[in-house]
Amino acid sequence: MARKCTATINLSAIKKNYLYVKSLAPKSKVIAVVKANGYGHGAIKVASVLESNADILGVASIEEAIELRESEINKTPILLMEGIFEESELALIEKHNLIPTICNSLQLKWILNCHKFIKPVNVFIKYDSGMGRLGFQDDEFISAINSLEQSKNINNITMMTHFSDADNLESDSTLAQIKDFENIANARKYDSSLANSAGVMEWSKSHKDYVRPGIMLYGSSPFSNKPHIDKLSPVMSLSSPLTSIKNFKAGQSIGYGNRYICKNDMKIGVVAIGYGDGYPRSAKDGTPVFINGVKTVIAGKVSMDMITIDLTNVPEPKIGDSVELFGDNVSVDEVAHCCNTISYEIFTQITQRVYKTYV
Ligand SMILES: *Cc1c(COP(=O)(O)O)cnc(C)c1O
Repeated sequence: MARKCTATINLSAIKKNYLYVKSLAPKSKVIAVVKANGYGHGAIKVASVLESNADILGVASIEEAIELRESEINKTPILLMEGIFEESELALIEKHNLIPTICNSLQLKWILNCHKFIKPVNVFIKYDSGMGRLGFQDDEFISAINSLEQSKNINNITMMTHFSDADNLESDSTLAQIKDFENIANARKYDSSLANSAGVMEWSKSHKDYVRPGIMLYGSSPFSNKPHIDKLSPVMSLSSPLTSIKNFKAGQSIGYGNRYICKNDMKIGVVAIGYGDGYPRSAKDGTPVFINGVKTVIAGKVSMDMITIDLTNVPEPKIGDSVELFGDNVSVDEVAHCCNTISYEIFTQITQRVYKTYV
């Protein structure tokens, strides 16, 4: 490894965050969400840590599920949270112990008309309680459940819905969604699943039979206005070495577009990470980084392979010193805030060029 641009992933922190989920929602079973390559952390590694604890693993597509199955992740059922995209996927559901979510009338038709199951399969059925995306609305939800009940293809049914604004603690829409869901679901005897991470952490009324945490397992806060949550342990630490140190006079400019102009005489360092590694180009001047025991900031536009940082007050910087972009000392949520985005996007945009190491 020459260019040591590295994402170090702390697997015991994932376990800790999982136990925190259990402590918040002790009566609920857990669907650990590992979609999008485990939020960029490596789905196979994350799943291998969680599969003995979690009741179900949650992914976005059958490709993601089969990748896990082919890597010996065989202990737990895997929930396809958007269901299947093509009828041909039905044949793989039993083989791989997958649970499809039924989100629309075509998926419903496919599963009802399928004659290939040896044993009836478990399904989730999605209700749209206000997200306005996937799932059945009111009467269609009821008639979809009725048709699943009458089908010999179906074993257990679990009812699920997804929140649109659970990270907003000022909004009453989450309570409205819970109420709406309960109005339609409480008359039925089936299990249900509502909570994402924000629901697990702040909306205890959403703790039903299953909770579905994602981002909190990776140690990041689902709340943009509450970036520091002591009980969550950061999982990914992104770091890269310093590759240049130079002094500049007041008035000199740094980087593309001359965005940063030195206000005083300054020492500027170059770090080997850029948007080609997934570090956001939207990072503004002042985005924090951590080096030699202190926090300092980005000065100048992010390039494809490099960023420039202010070293003026950093003790004894040397070429090769490791710079933390986020991790234990700079929270990913702080960085996300400076990039006008959310940690979910930062994690999932880390590219192949970044080495991943697991501790
Ligand atoms: C991604 C996802 C989750 C997890 O959301 P977090 O905010 O990361 O906790 C839960 N449920 C569904 C349906 C999802 O798509």
